[in-house]
Amino acid sequence: MIGLEIHVQLTEAGTKLFCGCKSNYRGLPANTNVCPVCLGQPGALPVPQEGPVVYAVAASLQLGCRLPPAVVFTRKHYFYPDLPKNYQITEYEGAHGAPVCLGGTFKYLDPAGWEWRSVRIRRINLEEDPGRSSYLRGGILGSPVVMVDYNRSGVPLLEIVTEPDLRGPRDARAMVEYLLLTLEYLGAVNPRLEGAFRVDANISVPGGERVEVKNIGSTLDVERAIRYELLRQGKIVEHGGRVERETRHWDSARGVTRPLRHKEEEEEYLYIPDPDLPPVPIGGALLAKARRLLALTPGEVLATLEEDGATREQAWSIASTPSIARLYLETRGHAADKRLLARLLGVDLKGALQRAGRDPYSPGSLPPPTTITRLVAMVEKGEIPYDTVKGLILPRLAVNPSASLEELLPEKARVDESLILEVLAAERGAVCDYLDGEEKALNYLVGRVIRRLGRRAVDPRRLRSLIARLIEERGASICGMEGRD
Ligand SMILES: [Zn+2]
Repeated sequence: MIGLEIHVQLTEAGTKLFCGCKSNYRGLPANTNVCPVCLGQPGALPVPQEGPVVYAVAASLQLGCRLPPAVVFTRKHYFYPDLPKNYQITEYEGAHGAPVCLGGTFKYLDPAGWEWRSVRIRRINLEEDPGRSSYLRGGILGSPVVMVDYNRSGVPLLEIVTEPDLRGPRDARAMVEYLLLTLEYLGAVNPRLEGAFRVDANISVPGGERVEVKNIGSTLDVERAIRYELLRQGKIVEHGGRVERETRHWDSARGVTRPLRHKEEEEEYLYIPDPDLPPVPIGGALLAKARRLLALTPGEVLATLEEDGATREQAWSIASTPSIARLYLETRGHAADKRLLARLLGVDLKGALQRAGRDPYSPGSLPPPTTITRLVAMVEKGEIPYDTVKGLILPRLAVNPSASLEELLPEKARVDESLILEVLAAERGAVCDYLDGEEKALNYLVGRVIRRLGRRAVDPRRLRSLIARLIEERGASICGMEGRD
């Protein structure tokens, strides 16, 4: 049995959960993103902020959940240097709290086997992240001092708890990846930011107690940690032992889980409803704002791409990169050949960006839609071979996305239509033969044009279709120029 608790920071919510400090503290000097509220100073009162609550409600809807009429916050007491109030504000139902999701079903895609599956969501709590402790050499046991940075204190966090429906390590990883992508489409989370999410896994084998593995920090480690823990528990059972209930810590560097402590009972946290915070009703303008965030989902983008004839690899490559997905949706209406567009954006542009060390997820790394639309049109008309786009133009656009095509188009790759028309006019006989149905005449004309172009790199296949098109458009007038007999 495998169930997960996924903690995701609402990094893009704008503010912390109960004060106006920033939700994304990365890159700021320690203890500069703080105020009396998130430092827990006496007399400071928390005020639920609109951004985090709206994103949490939108996330709940997007993950297939039932919403409560109101969210109700509770206090979870524990004493730790990174928790200045000595309690964390969360939404524990056992103490009359109301989480932002009352249960639901989330559908996700495993792109490896292209299989849609679903997992039941037990609940989603909206809560605050604590600050961050760090230690000198020797770690928590050996360091002579503890340093605390409160920049993270109060950052909105979704705790997403699933039922134990997951089928194995690979399935758990696919679910977490699709869930993070879904939240990224809402605009709530940038999952690539350091520390944006962490996962705890509850794992048990038949006849054994449930073991909680904490501190899993990447989707790859979700798969590794579960695989390790299933093997470890399996071996205990195999040798006639019994798996005891415990909490373990995932050590990513060594690839093992280690015992951490015996699980506290929930009562030890002394939960109470938070007397400073009245319930926040979920309805009206707040619900309308949340619904407006649901405009686009990865599932819809995938369906559009499959309809357009993209391969599954191309479709997943584009849909899993929201900035490229948006570029695809903005340009597909202008492309007659949508498969060409999918290949250009999902395979070759993304590859060029990665080779150039640019971030394909950042909209600033991408060329404007007009550049992409023109490139696709030029390839479609045979004005430029795709190999030149892939080998020459996309690598240059990856480095300088705002460059104009005029700057980037190599002289030799551009095939001048007027030059071809000159050749056709000089080869009137062959043009007439071709119009009379002699296919071979076209080969002859392609040869003449290539000869005229000299050593320029052109794709003969593209050139052939370009010449055929020009004869179709202008052949009759060329052939009839001096009258025929
Ligand atoms: Zn603050």
